[in-house]
Amino acid sequence: MDFSFSQEDEAFRREFRSWLEQNLPRDLHGDGEPADPDTKTEFERLRAWHRKLYDAGWMCIHWPKEYGGRGATLIQQFIYHQELDRAKAPPTVNFQGIARVGPTLMQWGTPEQKKRFIPKIPSAEEIWCQGLSEPNHGSDLAAVETRAVGEGDHFVVNGSKVWTSNAHHADFTTLLCRTDPTLPKHKGLSYLLVDMKTPGVTVRPLVQITGERGFNQVFFEDAQVPKSNLVGQKNQGWMVAMTNMMFERTIHGGRSEMMVEVRQLADLAKKIDRRGRSAWDDKYVQNRIAGFACEAEALKYTSLRQLTRQLRGLPPGPEGSMLKLGTTDLNLRIQSFAMELLGPYSQLAYQADGAIDRGKWSQRMLAARRGTIAAGTNEIQHNIIGERVLGLPKGS
Ligand SMILES: Cc1cc2nc3c(=O)[nH]c(=O)nc-3n(C[C@H](O)[C@H](O)[C@H](O)COP(=O)(O)OP(=O)(O)OC[C@H]3O[C@@H](n4cnc5c(N)ncnc54)[C@H](O)[C@@H]3O)c2cc1C
Repeated sequence: MDFSFSQEDEAFRREFRSWLEQNLPRDLHGDGEPADPDTKTEFERLRAWHRKLYDAGWMCIHWPKEYGGRGATLIQQFIYHQELDRAKAPPTVNFQGIARVGPTLMQWGTPEQKKRFIPKIPSAEEIWCQGLSEPNHGSDLAAVETRAVGEGDHFVVNGSKVWTSNAHHADFTTLLCRTDPTLPKHKGLSYLLVDMKTPGVTVRPLVQITGERGFNQVFFEDAQVPKSNLVGQKNQGWMVAMTNMMFERTIHGGRSEMMVEVRQLADLAKKIDRRGRSAWDDKYVQNRIAGFACEAEALKYTSLRQLTRQLRGLPPGPEGSMLKLGTTDLNLRIQSFAMELLGPYSQLAYQADGAIDRGKWSQRMLAARRGTIAAGTNEIQHNIIGERVLGLPKGS
């Protein structure tokens, strides 16, 4: 097997790497501390970075040129993410819009919707969030209860969405809602685009165990949404939502950051003193970190296998679920081992006096669970792998 990239792709890598070296502001070089765009100031700082990438043609590179992308190949997209990880660049601010809403609209939107909404996504002029999960319906998404009732030229929406990332910064949300409760659950759903400034839409932040406020519950009380904001056909929103989910899982594939995490863990082990010797000198520590490195490498090759499928024009395989499960589970175990290495220092909170690495490891430990829940829980990924890869019978 040949894992090398073509000369053209290596030239692309050099060009982007050099641009990052010259343009990524030093104060935005994340050293692995969690990005926390909770406050308006921090969010705007990240938006400025996003705009810098956009203005230089380095945003949404895989999007077609007509929508503001540069029509990059899948391999270039893969390299692009590798370089962002390598440079420890912070996340961009319109992740939901870029990864999910834009591509979904390209497939399902009317010409008017495409013209109105897509161009403002890559530039982060309009920020998007996605309203899928509800207080009683997450894994069982098709059972959502938020109601939209047609009246004249608009729908009247009532209900609530929860765990809505970024809703407090968003200008628009997608909304999976029930337009016909008499139809079977997958069939009476519609997919709307809702302006967050609509009267009757209220955002309430949810504070996480890390102290971050990136999540929200969003309430809809007699909110009027123009019928022109219906994406796809009425009562066929499940198909649109599935397109959205497919993009979500594909995105989880192309990242290579797990080896970055393993290297940081090795650096931590080298810093920790154990009875006058570095923890790194301990064979047990070396074995554990080597095990993590092997898993990270295996995940890298799984993501390359996924890339190969895509390059051959094959439909998405189970690699998306395997990568999602593998990376989030490995991350959880890496953070747990960091706690073991830190011993009593693991109890010092983020940014506390005397904390090693400013306490970022305890913060990451607290944050690690969320990856195992977002974008379909790991139990659901186990179900998918069990049924589609191993051919096990479907659970009741
Ligand atoms: C970081 C993060 C960001 C998120 N962002 C958004 C967002 O922007 N927009 C949005 O709409 N949602 C978002 N979510 C919500 C996320 O999609 C849901 O939390 C997730 O789908 C699980 O749904 P739930 O919380 O209702 O849990 P439930 O579905 O109630 O599951 C509870 C437990 O039961 C298990 N379980 C459920 N069904 C099965 C089954 N069939 N087999 C085995 N085990 C099962 C689950 O694995 C879980 O452990 C986000 C979540 C996180 C953590």
